[in-house]
Amino acid sequence: MNARGRRTVVPVLDFAIGADEFVTMAGPCSVESEQQLRSTALRVRRAGARVLRGGAFKPRSSPYAFQGLGLEGLKLLVAAREETGLAIVTEVMSEEDVPLVAEYADILQIGSRSMENYSLLEAAAKSGRPILLKRGMVATIADLLRSAQVILSNGNPNVILCERGIRTFETSLRNTFDAAGIALLKQISHLPVIADPSHACGHRGLVAALARIGIAAGADGMIVEVHPNPEKALSDGDQSLDFAEFDAMMAALEPWIALRAVAAQEEAFAQNGHAESCPLEAAG
Ligand code: PEP
Ligand code: MN
Repeated sequence: MNARGRRTVVPVLDFAIGADEFVTMAGPCSVESEQQLRSTALRVRRAGARVLRGGAFKPRSSPYAFQGLGLEGLKLLVAAREETGLAIVTEVMSEEDVPLVAEYADILQIGSRSMENYSLLEAAAKSGRPILLKRGMVATIADLLRSAQVILSNGNPNVILCERGIRTFETSLRNTFDAAGIALLKQISHLPVIADPSHACGHRGLVAALARIGIAAGADGMIVEVHPNPEKALSDGDQSLDFAEFDAMMAALEPWIALRAVAAQEEAFAQNGHAESCPLEAAG
């Protein structure tokens, strides 16, 4: 996958991911109720988000934890799209659910735990929906690009890569945010890359800092967890921003987003020179 030549621009409703605009996806980790989702959708749209996130089928570390509302969650997402005009991204966990989720969602999310489930990737690819492919928690950049290639070679060009933190020996945060991985992906792949500062750190106090780092690394957008009352969230409350925190972060990020044009120039320079010798270029 070579970054030179044309970049992949993924069309979604009336905007695009991977073009000039920095695209923010925001919303709760899990869809919990109409009131929770609707209030979040209205607030994140007002703050500048383009995409509403929210899990209806939840991959949880514990089988006893909240597993999501399923179809009811998908219906709530669609109602929120109708009211706000936000596009919907939601996870699909199994091959059998692909037709159902693809009927409701604008973007299918493949979660970290599923990144190497090639039969799921194939089924998701064939749905024709854009795919947000999250990096597995122990996946290398080459592994991520191989999974992207599975989607591309099944006839779906609309892949969005997502860096969401990886497992390392460092245990002070939920994961280790691989900002260099974002910069590298922007050099060696033509696909859009988005940052997930929420899962990368697991702690709401660091989300804005990681978002800034993601932007500086060249990300085309970000996906952030927001909840009306994070203390009461059924999943990932510790890393979810409340509305005021999300508003403040979005306002503070404006000058950083404006600087992206400079990063794009540097990227073009790197592509003309150094990327040629990148050892990963052959991978994916
Ligand atoms: C999520 O987006 O809520 C999620 C489960 O993410 P990941 O697959 O990156 O853990
Ligand atoms: Mn989550």
